[in-house]
Amino acid sequence: AKGLGGDRWHWFDPAMDEMARETARLNADLRRALADDEFFLLYQPIVDLPSHRPAGVEALLRWRHPERGLVAPDVFIPLAERSGLIVELGRWVLENACRQAAEWQTRYGGNAPAKVSINVSARQLAEPDFVETVDEIISRTGVDRSRLMLEVTETAVLAPGPGLEAIHRLRANGLRVALDDFGTGQSSLSLLLNCPVDVLKVDRSFVSGNAADHAGAVIVENLIGFTNGLHIEAIAEGVETREQAGRLFQAGYRLAQGYLFGRPMSAEDIEAQLDATAGT
Ligand code: C2E
Ligand code: CA
Ligand code: CA
Ligand code: CA
Repeated sequence: AKGLGGDRWHWFDPAMDEMARETARLNADLRRALADDEFFLLYQPIVDLPSHRPAGVEALLRWRHPERGLVAPDVFIPLAERSGLIVELGRWVLENACRQAAEWQTRYGGNAPAKVSINVSARQLAEPDFVETVDEIISRTGVDRSRLMLEVTETAVLAPGPGLEAIHRLRANGLRVALDDFGTGQSSLSLLLNCPVDVLKVDRSFVSGNAADHAGAVIVENLIGFTNGLHIEAIAEGVETREQAGRLFQAGYRLAQGYLFGRPMSAEDIEAQLDATAGT
């Protein structure tokens, strides 16, 4: 710590110590939370831009902690990934999202727009029995696999390995796979050329976030031609304003997701939306 005067930096920083203790507490609580039924899923609409009609939903995990209230997935998912609990938690998500998708399939019929997109962490995907687990859940819940999509991040598709193999097997089995958060990591267009996915989700930082400046707009507008050429579907994430939606539509995007169209909501609220649009 050359150049840092005296006590500005020390090994036993009490704040660091408290943070470590806090993480340990949350980890212990997480392990208990599955058994205590503290998790639930919300669903955020993915819409068809030209009509603003629902095209599908993304399942998003929530944790209602008995004392802390709602804990954000950005906090507990990384913890669960580090401890390995994500495998069990991810299975819970798959199970519940598939059960919901099967219910909507029965209720609204095969052509209903309530297809369900499910987040899968890289660690979960790399489990040796992941593909079998998915198959088992699909046949037990009775959901049609055409009504599902799995969202993976680029860590899973970037390097050869069990995750990438799982993606190939899932797709060979008729499941659609989306590459989530595109543009946030190391991913390049050359990655995409070899990328075994059906759908690209363009990260919200390019659509409404910090990078949604001129450069971000140029990227978003040009990505669509690229995905069209590769027969990959594109979904723009994080659409918050009508202006953003208009620009995306002009650029050729057909699918979008964001607070403008709906926040993550309960299954009942999704049903209310579907019932409302069904009549029109
Ligand atoms: P994600 O997969 O990129 O999910 C989209 C996130 O963006 C969600 O945050 C959603 O609420 C938020 N979002 C959607 N539209 C807008 C918008 O217009 N503006 C803004 N500012 N935000 C918007 P959420 O639900 O807090 O989830 C955060 C992350 O946690 C997810 O990012 C995903 O990486 C992870 N996650 C959530 N559920 C699961 C799960 O079941 N399994 C795994 N492995 N990860 C999950
Ligand atoms: Ca996602
Ligand atoms: Ca995303
Ligand atoms: Ca994310």
